[in-house]
Amino acid sequence: GAHPAAPLAQVTIIGSGYVGLNTGAVLAYLGHPVVMVDRDEQRVRDLQAGQPVIFEVGLPDLLSQTRAQTTFTTDLRAGVRDAQVIVIAVGTPPTASGDADTRAVEQAAQEIAEGLQDGQRCVVVVKSTVPIGTNRRVKSVIDRVLHARGVQAQVHYASNPEFLREGMALHDTLYPDRVVVGSDDPEALRALQQLYTPILEQTFTPPPGLPRPDHKPLPTLMSTDATSAELVKYASNAFLAVKISFINEVAGLCEKVGADVSEVARGMGMDIRIGAGFLQAGVGWGGSCFPKDVLALQAVAAEYGYTLPIVQAAGEVNRRQRAHMLERLQDALKVLRGRQVAVLGLTFKPGTSDLRESPGLDLIQQLLRRGAHVRAHDPVALSGAQALYPDLDLDWTPSVEAALSGADAVLLATAWPEYLHLDWLDLTRRMRTRVVLDGRNALPAELLRQDGVAYMGVGR
Ligand code: NAD
Repeated sequence: GAHPAAPLAQVTIIGSGYVGLNTGAVLAYLGHPVVMVDRDEQRVRDLQAGQPVIFEVGLPDLLSQTRAQTTFTTDLRAGVRDAQVIVIAVGTPPTASGDADTRAVEQAAQEIAEGLQDGQRCVVVVKSTVPIGTNRRVKSVIDRVLHARGVQAQVHYASNPEFLREGMALHDTLYPDRVVVGSDDPEALRALQQLYTPILEQTFTPPPGLPRPDHKPLPTLMSTDATSAELVKYASNAFLAVKISFINEVAGLCEKVGADVSEVARGMGMDIRIGAGFLQAGVGWGGSCFPKDVLALQAVAAEYGYTLPIVQAAGEVNRRQRAHMLERLQDALKVLRGRQVAVLGLTFKPGTSDLRESPGLDLIQQLLRRGAHVRAHDPVALSGAQALYPDLDLDWTPSVEAALSGADAVLLATAWPEYLHLDWLDLTRRMRTRVVLDGRNALPAELLRQDGVAYMGVGR
């Protein structure tokens, strides 16, 4: 197991979603007793019964390995009673105007203060992605409730934004590039430093299946003020969205001039000032973070009468990219109405069951609006998507063969490894017309073209 180099703290994590569950599993693995709270009773029952509730590589193993160390509950007030560290990891979804909805964070703060005991010393850590000033707001909510209750607790505050990638969540939590702590309170900083010592010094034994990456430098704990920490998170996600939109913009030009965007990106990526990451052209970005955080950052700026034209353009390019996918299908098929279009991949990327803001699901809805008939497939999230969109009139196909047989076109929206190793010659021969729109530049283009397939990639 793990060898924590620092004293153990009882940690209570509020919100057992993608962030809370992965963080809790890792902290338990490092030896801390962990209480995981969620207001969703079904979710808590499933977790208690040993079901991981989200799809994430390595999570079922880590949760079962740390069972003795973890408690799942819906009772937030009881859950914080003996905690030294309380991590808020609830959702902050977008509102209609693009602001992040922080009601769940405020609710959690309120209930934390209702649960704290006289004389309790703890650190409240905001891990959710939150707009500027939310950390201050959490403190004022807790102060107010403690005061009203007449309870004297010693509460310290820190912002500790999360950078994990879904599909790599455990890996990223164990082997982060950096840990950002925003606080002006040395006590809070000390507590988090202690909590993360095994990660900062990499003194734990890697769990099976999650080996330590070679040649990776030790993560830095970057300590800063809370407002800067809140902005590090938004600015990082906005920058990554800009990077993807940038290469998609270049991809469009590549299609015009006859260049290959993967070659252009390869050459660009060798420049260490640019870096090779996030330069894959495709159907555009989605997921539960980029769209929401890009909007929230613009909403923050608007509150201050400021604009972010580069960030805004990233969103516009992303919408254009989706529209461009449909245009290319229409160009190839001439008429979309009545066509059978197979869409492979409903999650925004491989390795996750997260269906929020997924490009595949967006394109499906646009295809349906244009009168196409859709056959949808996903190796992990098919039933989840069906449950989420019971009213969509389409075929949820349980196999890729079923989706492609007799289809007029196929759109690859997610590069699940399950799709990449199929016999694509055989599969496309079952189609009525062999039109392939490879939205991830992941299929064997030359092989398919040589066999007469109308293969279209993105930017090549
Ligand atoms: P999620 O929707 O998967 O999980 C949130 C969980 O919190 C849900 O299970 C919900 O039932 C629970 N919850 C909501 N309000 C609650 C309350 N008042 N008390 C108790 N439980 C409550 O969300 P997520 O993807 O884990 O994201 C959480 C936060 O972390 C968000 O702010 C998000 O922006 C941020 N974040 C997410 C990721 C990611 O990849 N998903 C990465 C970095 C940061």
